[in-house]
Amino acid sequence: GNDVVTFGETMAALRADGLIRLGGTMRLSVAGAESNVAIGLARLGHSVGWVGLVGGDEPGELVLRTLRAEGVDVAHACVDERGPTGLILLERRVGELTRVIYHRAGSAASFLVADDVLPALDSLPKLLHVTGITPALGRGPAEAVRVVVREAAASGVLTCLDVNYRARLWGREQAAETLRPLVSSLSVVIASDDELELVAPGAATTERDRVAALLDAGVSEVIIKRGGDGASGHTADQVVDVPARRVQVVDVVGAGDAFVAGYLSGLLDELDLTGRLDRAVTTGAFAVASSGDWEGLPSRSELGLLDALPGSTLR
Ligand code: ATP
Repeated sequence: GNDVVTFGETMAALRADGLIRLGGTMRLSVAGAESNVAIGLARLGHSVGWVGLVGGDEPGELVLRTLRAEGVDVAHACVDERGPTGLILLERRVGELTRVIYHRAGSAASFLVADDVLPALDSLPKLLHVTGITPALGRGPAEAVRVVVREAAASGVLTCLDVNYRARLWGREQAAETLRPLVSSLSVVIASDDELELVAPGAATTERDRVAALLDAGVSEVIIKRGGDGASGHTADQVVDVPARRVQVVDVVGAGDAFVAGYLSGLLDELDLTGRLDRAVTTGAFAVASSGDWEGLPSRSELGLLDALPGSTLR
């Protein structure tokens, strides 16, 4: 069995260097928060399975082939003819600002149900990772997250939620209503500072109180991502702040997923909280310093690369 199981929607991604309406050439790749995490973990040498539905089409083949090539186990992924593989278009508007357009409503992945995923838990992975994107895709995917997280926790599998709020898919209230009930089954909660309120139980209004509410509800680790300001980690008896690694920003898309991959890798390697966060800000920095969501993620032997002097050549 795999150490980690994750599931969600992975789309074909078309990326334009400028405005899409002006035409020109686009680059084709794949994108999905959970598969980004899976690729990040696989590159670091962990065994990881991705579950999801793709359409019976060429973009679906691209998704499966890419994940296979990256060493992600897709044995439980399926082709589903009820819809096409989802599509995400990315355009560079001004400078570092990327604009995203989805063509994913009614996609094959939106037909996902719990029974598609549960068999992947049979071999008892150490860790299940989900994101708050999946329940925004429809009733089936929302039910899948609810059931699979609950079953995993009941079987002693560690569970991780990255809140990953997407305003294009649903409202904040709906997200909070859906995500908060998951908390009692979660071991690790990862959120941006502005996403904490979507998952913290009760009516706490400060970050400190929201973290406390999550820990009180049984979450072991609450991790807050702060973009270029780094991250902080909270457990029942520890608070650790780490700064971001200083790198030249090329493309910030995927930083959060890369961060999660580094964090979970540190967890699997049984690093302490500081060690887990150090690895997370390192993999996050690789994502922002290279183009693409996951293409620039490091292998294990490359983790120390950012310590090399700027402008140096590795021979
Ligand atoms: P996204 O949804 O775009 O993937 P996110 O909001 O989930 O991003 P961020 O907080 O932006 O996640 O970034 C995650 C981590 O990546 C940060 O905690 C930090 O360690 C690293 N990171 C992000 N931006 C930068 C930056 N400009 N320089 C260095 N590291 C960064």
